Amino acid sequence: ESQLNPNYNFENFLEGDSNRLARNAGIAVANKPGGTSFNPLLIFGGVGLGKTHLAHAIGVDIKDKYPEKTVLYISAEKFTQQYIDSVKKNNRNDFIHFYQIIDVLIIDDVQFFSGKSGTQDVFFHIFNHLHQNGKQVILTSDKAPVDMQDIEQRLLSRFKWGLSAELQTPDFETRVSILKNKLYRDGVEMPEDIIEYVAKNIKTNVRELEGAIISLIAQSSFNRKEITLSLAKDIVEKFVKNTKREVSIDYIQKVVSDYFQMDVSTLQSKTRKRHIVQARQLAMFFAKKYTKASLASIGSQIGKRDHATVLHACKTVDNLSSTDKQFRKYVEDLAKKLSL
Ligand code: ADP
Ligand code: MG
Repeated sequence: ESQLNPNYNFENFLEGDSNRLARNAGIAVANKPGGTSFNPLLIFGGVGLGKTHLAHAIGVDIKDKYPEKTVLYISAEKFTQQYIDSVKKNNRNDFIHFYQIIDVLIIDDVQFFSGKSGTQDVFFHIFNHLHQNGKQVILTSDKAPVDMQDIEQRLLSRFKWGLSAELQTPDFETRVSILKNKLYRDGVEMPEDIIEYVAKNIKTNVRELEGAIISLIAQSSFNRKEITLSLAKDIVEKFVKNTKREVSIDYIQKVVSDYFQMDVSTLQSKTRKRHIVQARQLAMFFAKKYTKASLASIGSQIGKRDHATVLHACKTVDNLSSTDKQFRKYVEDLAKKLSL
């Protein structure tokens, strides 16, 4: 059992600037599993941007072209659970052996391995064995390797052996073509201006885009109403309100470090360089403002600081934004980016 979902394939994974590199790398890997330098292929990006879809598509295509190869898709969570069970049942070696004879191993959401040293250790050995034998490994993650936390260095360095390809938020044109393709496959007709209205206003990720269009279709058919622009406006408005994104501390750190053009790891580092300290303080300030996390929890997630440091950061940001014009601009820009 490969656990692959045939509905997630390349044909319905629409190409755009936001995913071209990852999609093409996926196609290259599917043509020659284990035979390219993209090994492992690591696909990373935010929630709802197509990581799981693309990972399946690669597996499905390999199975098509090479029916004799064993391909296995598994979430990192399930892999971890299986490993824990195997230890309890005293058959850790069977577990390892099972994975070592697979030709193409696809593990989804490897950020789940964070802090789980037993699982990381066993995966490290499986990975080495597969890699040495020319087998293909495909991984997905919600973060780039440089930004992954609590993953052993030796594993991170393996992740970087191949190619890390990012899935970004799709641009307007890509959102329109994803919507059109979905409507076409579902046999639903919709006026162009409505499609464009939805694509213009739902820009966070593909999952939400699909969710909005599904609820639009459902509303119109339940109420026997025609799909009009005003119905679309109602639904999109409600949709945007209801899915007001739960901003995570990870997300805040990513936005702040992107804004200052640094890595998240730099933002979290121990350095006292002024611009890095400021970026870190801003991340703490927004984490306090936009999440329900405690000061202690914010501190531990932003570079392992204590609650007093976070409190100090919040006060500093308050002070600086009333005295320093440039700094106030940072706060305003970031607030805008975070309240998308
Ligand atoms: P992730 O694993 O990154 O959270 P998913 O792979 O679950 O995201 O994708 C969310 C939804 O968006 C799925 O229904 C998927 O089919 C769809 N999707 C994502 N990217 C594309 C794309 N480029 N073309 C078509 N559908 C897409
Ligand atoms: Mg996923």
